[in-house]
Amino acid sequence: MSTRPHILIAGGGIGGLTAAMILAQNGGHVELFERAPRLSEIGAGLQLSPNAMQVHAAIGTHADICNVGFAPEYAALRHYKTGDIHLKTHLKDTARASFGQDYIHIHRADLQRILITAAQAAGVAFRLGTTVQNFHQTQDRITLTTDCGEFTGDVLIGADGTRSALRSIINPNSAPRFTGQIAWRGTLPTNAVPQGLLAPAANVWMGPSRHFVAYYLRGGELINFIAVEERRGWTEESWSLKGDPANLRRTFDGWDAAVTQIIDATPETYLWGLFDHAPLPHWTQGRAALLGDAAHPMLPFMAQGAAMATEDAWVIAHHILKAASSNTCFEPALNAYEQARKPRASKLQAISRRNAKLFHEAGGLGLALRYAKLKAANSLPTLQHMKIAPIYGMDVVKNFPIG
Ligand SMILES: Cc1cc2nc3c(=O)[nH]c(=O)nc-3n(C[C@H](O)[C@H](O)[C@H](O)COP(=O)(O)OP(=O)(O)OC[C@H]3O[C@@H](n4cnc5c(N)ncnc54)[C@H](O)[C@@H]3O)c2cc1C
Repeated sequence: MSTRPHILIAGGGIGGLTAAMILAQNGGHVELFERAPRLSEIGAGLQLSPNAMQVHAAIGTHADICNVGFAPEYAALRHYKTGDIHLKTHLKDTARASFGQDYIHIHRADLQRILITAAQAAGVAFRLGTTVQNFHQTQDRITLTTDCGEFTGDVLIGADGTRSALRSIINPNSAPRFTGQIAWRGTLPTNAVPQGLLAPAANVWMGPSRHFVAYYLRGGELINFIAVEERRGWTEESWSLKGDPANLRRTFDGWDAAVTQIIDATPETYLWGLFDHAPLPHWTQGRAALLGDAAHPMLPFMAQGAAMATEDAWVIAHHILKAASSNTCFEPALNAYEQARKPRASKLQAISRRNAKLFHEAGGLGLALRYAKLKAANSLPTLQHMKIAPIYGMDVVKNFPIG
């Protein structure tokens, strides 16, 4: 084993790029394999909570993210017809004091651009247009098989997303399950709707069997939305399937004016099916380990998918670099990473699943009760804080030091 570890990373999404950058910044020789011929993304928003921003502060991307993002004043759970707030969590003025870092909304394409620039500056070697297929290993090395040939290194990180090829090799019997929910997403210029229509917050309208999320991006220039509806079946696996805006309009007919006016002003929408996964039996196999959605795909109802991939990236880098510097084996290092991360990721998977129920009460008495419970929670801010502090207050940078 070399003291300068040679790390192969499958997947150039949020988790793969972040891990590549941290490892390269700290002396790793990193090769990143991405099936897309260009690292570009179609539009969508991401919420970066303080636990993710801790990592960005440590790797030097925090300022760029704040510059192109939007800091929401608060998060609001609203009545679907009136828009009345049932539960409000202050963010902008309190996130740093309460959780140690900022809370930022960012366009996925902007985050990806920032990470690519930083990874290139750190010396990551990109192999684009390369689809990862399989791997095999000896006691000393691991070899990745791709459609462009074989590549050998010390460690392989599988960051190849929700439909990970490497996950199905490490866990042959695992397949994601369609949750019965589909999501529409879209972005639109803020000046396409009346000024002040959307509060400067992470807004969620909860209605019968559906919900609608909307917030600002790019300093307030853009509005991003995600609308979730229940459906029986879904086979399409694409992230870029176009949806019919007229259908979306019908689905949210009669909702709060902020929702319907945002939909009316939306030129195009995309649709994707929401898949869920029970915690995987294995995240690692010898010198290979999964990370991000490949290890723990989760529903977007806690907005923690990207944050968990970012935390994973820091923690796996900590363990790999520690093993390399002490000249010890990588297998136990990867097992230690799995042990450190699995309980937290599994918990977030479960919370996201629970929120699906909270957001999608069918209507009638159940919905009224849900609103009443939220109002009660709103009057107990300390209790509310205790619930989110373990999520947003996690600081992997402090807990798993590098360098
Ligand atoms: C288009 C899109 C929009 C999203 N919108 C939101 C959102 O609004 N809110 C939210 O909370 N979460 C959203 N998510 C989910 C969130 O971004 C993920 O939780 C987060 O990106 C996880 O990071 P990851 O690195 O594990 O996976 P990803 O960021 O999905 O990256 C996986 C990468 O692996 C590549 N890849 C896949 N298979 C192979 C292969 N065989 N060989 C080589 N490369 C491969 C993919 O092209 C991709 O670049 C979105 C994801 C996508 C893809």
